[in-house]
Amino acid sequence: MRLILLGPPGAGKGTQAKKLMEAHAIQQLSTGDMLRAAVKAETPIGLKAKDIMVRGDLVPDDVVNQIVAERIGDPDCSNGFILDGFPRTVAQAEALEAILAEKQLELDAVIELQVDEEALASRVEKRRQESGDAVREDDTVEALRHRLKVYRDQTAPLIEHYRGTGKLRSVDGMQDIETVTANIAAILGEARPQLYATG
Ligand code: ADP
Repeated sequence: MRLILLGPPGAGKGTQAKKLMEAHAIQQLSTGDMLRAAVKAETPIGLKAKDIMVRGDLVPDDVVNQIVAERIGDPDCSNGFILDGFPRTVAQAEALEAILAEKQLELDAVIELQVDEEALASRVEKRRQESGDAVREDDTVEALRHRLKVYRDQTAPLIEHYRGTGKLRSVDGMQDIETVTANIAAILGEARPQLYATG
């Protein structure tokens, strides 16, 4: 099972990705998490990405494309993966298509979490308060506002891009977590009925 989760910051992509990971024994590939690990470890990529991330801008396409291309080939991804936070630009989507074609892999679905932008600020604020010392430097009101603009300008066009491929499925991300999970399961049941067959 190979999926993309699409939606603005705070839409719940990470939460749903973790649930999908457990339900289907597939890997969550969060480019945000990978980049934060690189920043923490002060690798060359991390040093390059740090200031860009704090501002809420996008790290250059070639950097993230490279990370994803390498990660998708790892043995623990052989059963599938959920891309969370990638692709974020049309150029990244095209790079992903090339990576998958080269490995003769296909996407099962692109799941768009639709959310009301007004609610996102309060969700991110809550995440900031609950995370204690592990506060993310980009979870401030200003950075979030900027990340939302970046999402609208650079990532939202992917919705039409994937609608064109016939793989786009949209879910109301304003419902409670369990309902969103159930809606996603229903979509995947249609895409891959054998996964949910009983007996
Ligand atoms: P959120 O979805 O909450 O905005 P992420 O954890 O997905 O956060 O990403 C945090 C930051 O990491 C982004 O604002 C951006 O700077 C960088 N980043 C993550 N994924 C990508 C990507 N695919 N392309 C470019 N930058 C990325």
